Formats: sequence, structure tokens, C-alpha cells
Amino acid sequence: MSAEILPVASPAQVRAYARRLVLRYPRALAGALALHALAAAAGLVAPRLLGDLVEDVADGRADVDTAGIAIAVFVVVQGVLNRYAHLQSAKLGERVLARLREEFVRRVLRLPLSAVERAGTGDLVTRASRDVDTLATSVRYAMPETLIAVVVVTLTAGALVLNGPLVALPCLVSVPLLWAVTRWYLPRARAGYLRENAAYARIADGLAETVHGARTVEALGLAERRRARGDDDIAAAFEVERYTLRLRTVLYPVIEFGFVLPVAATLLCGGLLYVNGHASLAQVTAATLYVQQLSGPVETLLSWLDELQLGGASLARVLGVADVPPDRVPHGREPGGERITARDVRYAYRDGRDVLHGVDLDLRPGERLAVVGPSGAGKSTLGRLLAGIDGPRTGEVAVGGVPLVGLPLDDLRGHVALVTQEQHVFRGTLRDNLAMARPDASDDDLRRVLAAVEWDGPGLDAEVGSGDAAPSPARAQQLALARLVLADPHTLVLDEATSLLDPRAARRLERSLAAAMDGRTVVAIAHRLHTAHDADRVAVVEDGRIAELGTHDELLAQNGSYAALWASWHSS
Ligand code: ADP
Repeated sequence: MSAEILPVASPAQVRAYARRLVLRYPRALAGALALHALAAAAGLVAPRLLGDLVEDVADGRADVDTAGIAIAVFVVVQGVLNRYAHLQSAKLGERVLARLREEFVRRVLRLPLSAVERAGTGDLVTRASRDVDTLATSVRYAMPETLIAVVVVTLTAGALVLNGPLVALPCLVSVPLLWAVTRWYLPRARAGYLRENAAYARIADGLAETVHGARTVEALGLAERRRARGDDDIAAAFEVERYTLRLRTVLYPVIEFGFVLPVAATLLCGGLLYVNGHASLAQVTAATLYVQQLSGPVETLLSWLDELQLGGASLARVLGVADVPPDRVPHGREPGGERITARDVRYAYRDGRDVLHGVDLDLRPGERLAVVGPSGAGKSTLGRLLAGIDGPRTGEVAVGGVPLVGLPLDDLRGHVALVTQEQHVFRGTLRDNLAMARPDASDDDLRRVLAAVEWDGPGLDAEVGSGDAAPSPARAQQLALARLVLADPHTLVLDEATSLLDPRAARRLERSLAAAMDGRTVVAIAHRLHTAHDADRVAVVEDGRIAELGTHDELLAQNGSYAALWASWHSS
């Protein structure tokens, strides 16, 4: 199965964004450009002085010392100006980059969970690492270098014309050549680099999957197949690399040739013009030097074009993250109560394949509702919808009349929370891990919730998280429950919170859980039946519908699916 990747921004979007990004700091930009212009102008004086010197020497009236000193002074001035110009544009680049990164993080955090799950984390990780790095190179080096090159080329071309329009003309011979080759190159390069990045995302995806599912791979003997997939992915990436490399092997030689040609042309035509008396020796000398000077920045310009293309492709992927339609649209209304209701709820993971087919459910505040049913019936999906993790495709899940997806996330967590077996403990102190549920909680609050869930682990300042400090699954669950008590939602959705633990840990956790559930409405998804017995009501989910709903005794009396499940569970 190939994961669909997250959207990629269009070229127009990328251009508009890049323009906005650069123009966001107009003063810094103007300052950098002015410094570069001054440096470039200082660099233009020497060739002209040198030209005059050549002519004077030819006429036999040269003052070599003064001319030499003047040239040296301008070279030094240019050096000093260059230093500050580079400093200024580097600072600007870093600011732009910081901004880009912040915006990327904001975009990623706004992504609907379901979109990330569908696309796989590999795509997102590649965007956050490889694409952001590429973009950093573009912003740090390509952008300022290109700006500088544009300034220098413009000024040098101006100087060439001022020096003598006639001797300036021959350097244009290369323009059609360079224009044609870049026109040919750019669109192909953009497509190529986009494919290259997607290929790397696939490699990262495959690797992450293999590492994540290492146990499964080992247990099912999938190593060969995983390796084959890795080889295929690498081969695909190799193919696109080769394609873009082939593009470059055409581009660069043509460009190189394009630089030698104008110098030769200027010397040749300049010589003819001089012989025929249409240009002075000084003009021809200066023009030749200018043309030669021009090849540096033009080369910079063209070679960074490549990098800018790469950067553009990466920017398209970084910006594309924002094109995922949001699944939460703030509603602006406060819920009028704590009653959670589901109306005609349908949900599909994949277009056209609903896994819930019109579910209606009214949770009574304070009740325990057990959700049972065969595996794959849609219990966990219903749980995610009731907790507001995903929004229904059609229909509505609401609290106090306001759709759950219409509540800001921070508010939602104060109403309903989902507890599953996958609880993440972040690297950091226990305090950090708890306080994320309610940043304004005091240490006393934190200690109180730890006591409530009968936490007997290390104190608030202890480092928890991955590696050596990774807590046991039971501890991780307890921590999650403590977070929950802190967030204090009136409704809990428990998706089989204790099944995988060893019995002793499970018993302790039952007590923590009981404390966490105290005084709240609870939907307990029971993938096994025994927990259903104690619930106030039982909902039997079959094939994406609620097939039966009532108390344990009522359902037994109905003698339907639940009665059959119960009987088979008891006899086994
Ligand atoms: P239950 O919790 O009752 O076992 P689920 O809600 O997990 O059932 O699954 C309901 C249906 O949705 C199943 O057919 C399952 O294959 C499908 N499904 C669950 N999660 C996903 C997912 N992330 N992507 C695609 N299909 C899914």
C-alpha cells in the first residue's frame, strides 16, 4: 500500500509566499542591497582605471604609481563593504529562516490527526528534516548570493554601457544560449526534485515502518520482503537522482561555454572597433575586464538557480502541509451542558468505505456505558469520534449542543478525553509531563493528582521519557491517568486501558483508573466482555451500527447478540 502523501503547494503559491517572506523585512533587505550595491560599485572602478592606465602607457604618459594606489584603495574599500554586506544579508537570511521554521511547526501542529495517519509519518518527517534543511541552504546561501549577483550584474552591465555602448554589444552573444538552456532546465528540474523528495520520503517511511514493527517483521519472517522493499525504494530514488544529475550534466557545460564566448567576442570586436577608430584602447580594456567580471556573478546566479529550484521544491512541500483542510472549525459557542450526543454519525477512513453507518447515541451524564461487539465492528472508531479526535463524515457528535470539532482543542480536553493503551511519555521531568495537561497547575495540584492515581514512582523533578528513564507500561498508563485527572474532563472514553498489563500491575491500575473515573461519564470500550457486566448500560456495536442498547439484564432478556456473546463467554 502506498501512502498518499500530504499536499504540495503550487508554484504560484510558492512564489507568492517567497515574495511575502522576503518583503517582510523591508528595512533589513534595503540595507543589505545598498551595501552590496556600494561594494559592487567600488569593484567597478578598478577596471576603468586599469583601462585608462593601459591607454596612458600606450601613449607614453603614464603615472603608474598613482593609478596603482587608487586601484588598491578601491579594492580594499570593496573588501570592507563586502564584509558588511554579507553580514547584513546573512542576518536577514537567518531571520527569514527562523520565521519559516516557526510557521512550519505551527502548520504541522494544526494538521488533523487523521491526515497524518493517512499520509504516514515518513512524509512528514522528511518534510521536517530533509526539506527544511534544503530550504535552510536556499535561504542561507542561495537567496543572498542570488540577490548579490543580481545587484552586481545590473551595476556591471550599467558600467559596460556607460564605458561605451558599442564595445558592450558583443557580450550579448551568449544571452540566447544561456536563456535557452535555463528555459529547458528549470521546469524539468522542478519536477525532478519533487520526485526526488517524494522518493526519499518513501525510503524514510519504509525504514520507520520496519524499525517500528521490528518484532512483527521478525515474528512473521518478513525480513526478506522488507529488505526487498528497501532495495526497491532505493533503486527508485537512485533513478530520480540520475535523472536530475543528467539534467545538470547538460546545464553546466553549456553555461561554461557561455562564459568564455563573450570575453572572446569582446576582445575580437573591440580590437576591430579600435583599429577602425570607433573605440579607445581604454574602452576596449575596461569592457573586456567588465565582461570577465560579469561571468562570476552570472555563474553564481545560474548555479544558485539550481539550488533555488531545490529550495522551491522543498518550500512547496513545506507549505503544502497547510493545504490539508482543517478538521476542526471553531464554532464560537459555549456548550450548554455536559451531555454528549451522536446523531446519524458516519465515518470513513477511506473515501467511499464507511465503517460507521448512522450511529445515534445519547450519553447520560454520570453513566458507565460499555461498548462491546466483534473485532472490527467500529468500536474504537466510535470511541475516537465520541472523544472528538476525528470529526464524523456526516452527522454530528456534540457536547451540550456544540459539535466537538467546533471546540478549540484546549476546550475540548476539558470536556472529553480518550484513554488508550498508547500513552506517550515525553522526554523531560515528570512535572513537564503532567503540566502539559494544564500548564497553570501548581506543584501542589500535581502532587494531588499523583496521589489520586496512587502514583508510587519518582518525584516531580525526576527525568522520565525514552531510553533508561522510560517508565513501565503500567507507570506510563498511570501518568496518563494523572494527566487526565488534571485536565478534568467530565467524560472519559476508555479504549481497553488495562488489557495488556500483567495482572499485578493491572490491579493497581484498576484502582488508579477507578479514581480517575470517579464522578465522570465513562464510555468503556470492552474488547473483552467481562467489564461490560458492571456498566450501567451496554451498547453492542455490530458492523458499524449500534445493534443493541440497554442494561445488562435488559439485553440478556432480549436474547439477541449480547445474550449470545455473554453465553459463549461464560461457557468458555
Ligand atoms: P473495533 O474497535 O470494533 O475492533 P475499529 O473501529 O478499530 O473496530 O475498526 C472498524 C473498521 O475500520 C475496521 O474494518 C477496520 O479495518 C477499519 N479501520 C480501523 N482503523 C483504520 C485506519 N486507521 N485506516 C483504515 N481503516 C481502519
